[in-house]
Amino acid sequence: MSTSIQTGNEPASGLKQKQSASTSAVQSGRSVRIGDPVNYKAWVAKAAKQPMVLETVDPGPLGAEDVEVAVDHCGLCHSDLSVWNNDWGISQYPAILGHEVAGRVTAVGPSAKGLQVGQPVGVGWNSASCMHCHQCMSGSHHLCPQVQVTIVGHRGGFATHIRAHWAWAIPLPEKLNFAEAGPLLCGGITVFAPLARFAKPTDRVGIVGIGGLGHMAVKFAAAYGCDVTAFTSSESKFDEAKGFGADHVVSSKDPAAIRKLGGSFDLLISTVNVTLDWDAMIGTLAPNGRLHVVGAVLDPIPVAAFSLILQQRSVSGSPAGSPVAIATMLDFAARHDIAPQTEHFRMSNIHEAFARLQSGKARYRIVLDADF
Ligand code: NAP
Ligand code: ZN
Repeated sequence: MSTSIQTGNEPASGLKQKQSASTSAVQSGRSVRIGDPVNYKAWVAKAAKQPMVLETVDPGPLGAEDVEVAVDHCGLCHSDLSVWNNDWGISQYPAILGHEVAGRVTAVGPSAKGLQVGQPVGVGWNSASCMHCHQCMSGSHHLCPQVQVTIVGHRGGFATHIRAHWAWAIPLPEKLNFAEAGPLLCGGITVFAPLARFAKPTDRVGIVGIGGLGHMAVKFAAAYGCDVTAFTSSESKFDEAKGFGADHVVSSKDPAAIRKLGGSFDLLISTVNVTLDWDAMIGTLAPNGRLHVVGAVLDPIPVAAFSLILQQRSVSGSPAGSPVAIATMLDFAARHDIAPQTEHFRMSNIHEAFARLQSGKARYRIVLDADF
């Protein structure tokens, strides 16, 4: 393992020196680093489930509309584990995982807009989109047919640097705690987006699974003013879920307790990736209620037509969110002091961190601090 580039809490200091010595320039009033490309260091997975290795990566020239970001912190999402393991059959190796980045801009492509070198930004599940299709033009960039997933066919954030199209490097509000901001960029937006679309403050909202996504969902739903019920399979999380703002906590493994809640919820957000008693879960929805699925459960969710028809219920899903939705969520989080509850690991302890996520013991989001 080489440690030639020092990042950690003093990001890319070696890099900065290099910039100020020979490669900084100001063009059109903006800072643009030109000249020598900087090699990155990254934790690289060569194949499914194989230990990641620390390698030097030549990123090639920076795209005209792209920015380069020195990674300070990167959250560990269950999707990183699923892509590492190729659980979804979409992984591409070598893979550099990590898609909850908090970092600082180190270079700006000549056609990139709105960002300055040194600016704190976050990069999440997506890092580019075509910017001209119907979805991009109408503000739903996350639904672009060409949207670039940050950790599939693109280098992710368990690295000294990451690159993204300028629109997908989202400025971090000053008031947010920088070291805890990363998990908002994937987990946070994924649960905030359905709340923003579907929940009213008068609603009864259920959050199923109190892990990385679920605990942020409880915090957001409580800040929205909703009556919040947390469904968890872990008794040890009952009290903490209340601490996050849940008004009620129910065991997701207790069919009798779930059935008692029949007809209750306007919105249920499921963050689990396992099969639950879906019939009972849909039965807890009030008339016009919605089960919104963000957890990547691989087995189909069976839905009885009459359970939807007679109560006019819906089942839906969504992937992360658009750049504007992310910026709106960050602003809301800053205003309401919402941050994930985290456990920090040094990035060099990446395998310990993945093992802890896999064990289900993480409380509640792991963040890796860059220490190259
Ligand atoms: P996580 O931190 O591991 O949390 C998952 C939670 O699911 C666990 O904490 C646990 O909560 C619950 N769970 C796990 N096994 C269970 C079981 N056998 N029975 C009942 N509940 C169980 O994962 P995460 O990072 O929050 O991600 C959750 C899911 O969302 C993953 O599938 C991930 O890939 C997906 N995801 C989707 C999007 C999107 O855009 N739609 C974005 C990010 C992540 P309790 O202990 O409370 O039961
Ligand atoms: Zn994620």
